[in-house]
Amino acid sequence: MNLDWKNLPFGYIKTDYNVRAYFRDGKWGELEISSSEYLNIHMAATSLHYGQEAFEGLKAFKGKDGKIRLFRWEENAKRMRNSAHGIMLAEVPDTLFKEAIYKAIKLNEKFVPPYGSGASLYVRPLLIGSGPEVGVKPSSEYLFMVFVTPVGPYFKEGFKPVDMLLTREFDRAAPLGTGRFKVGGNYAASLTSMKKAHDGGFANVLYLDAKEKKFIDECGPANFFGIKENTYITPKSDSILPSITNMSLLKLAESIGMKAERRPVPYEELETFDEVGACGTAAVISPIKRIVDDASGKEYTYGNEPGPISTRLYKKLQAIQTGDEPDEFGWVSIVE
Ligand SMILES: *Cc1c(COP(=O)(O)O)cnc(C)c1O
Repeated sequence: MNLDWKNLPFGYIKTDYNVRAYFRDGKWGELEISSSEYLNIHMAATSLHYGQEAFEGLKAFKGKDGKIRLFRWEENAKRMRNSAHGIMLAEVPDTLFKEAIYKAIKLNEKFVPPYGSGASLYVRPLLIGSGPEVGVKPSSEYLFMVFVTPVGPYFKEGFKPVDMLLTREFDRAAPLGTGRFKVGGNYAASLTSMKKAHDGGFANVLYLDAKEKKFIDECGPANFFGIKENTYITPKSDSILPSITNMSLLKLAESIGMKAERRPVPYEELETFDEVGACGTAAVISPIKRIVDDASGKEYTYGNEPGPISTRLYKKLQAIQTGDEPDEFGWVSIVE
């Protein structure tokens, strides 16, 4: 493959194959290989009308040794089961999840970006209600599929801090709603606020808890963390999506001798952090240099360069993902 790996966008590029399995009559069928980019589903499918769909996102990296590594796919499988449970989709067994992601990667091996390019192969599992219903109820048929697409390095000009808009004008998810599941509806609900942030020159929105508007929830499609007094602090909330990157950073912080806390974080605490950032699969860490409160106009600033701890955690996690550092936590699987 001769793609301009270093300049790939974080977007969709066609690959050769995807894999699909159908849930019908109460059971999953065999995994099928497809070379079509299109789905043929019923126009009354519950995913289209009632948002009965969940997805996942993870990355595969080529190491110096030429091997392809996947980061903590078991956690993605578990989270997709949890999302399925949350919106009454048929659960995908871990064995089927693994078979599907491995097969989708192997079949498109030539699209896995080379070691050192900063690019990776993004893996997108998708689970949708595919059967027809007009009344609001769960589908009796489901489609589970996985496609892959090569994506470029998130930070093309290097690891650079961004601005965030703290808003009270929008909520992404309600405390007892679906915020903790990786479902499309949460993303639809975030588009207007994200547009407002982008129009104002911000990378994304920092949401507060929907009920009291007191505590920090998360940053658009990424979790939030702050660092002070040798402690990694990340919000505990029922309406945020449990990020696997965040879970890993908590562990890494402890492994380098820091304390790690998951607890409610009042927004006033923003004043006290030395470093803050957003974390998720796409960027690992996006350091934040400025947060602007759109109600009061108050600004919180953290310096124009990434902080030393964010940088250290970012480098360490990336090195584990690509195989440059030993996999001391057992997070990496070789795709063979
Ligand atoms: C996927 C996602 C994240 C990041 O999770 P990772 O597992 O780290 O990629 C954070 N917040 C939301 C809302 C998400 O959908």
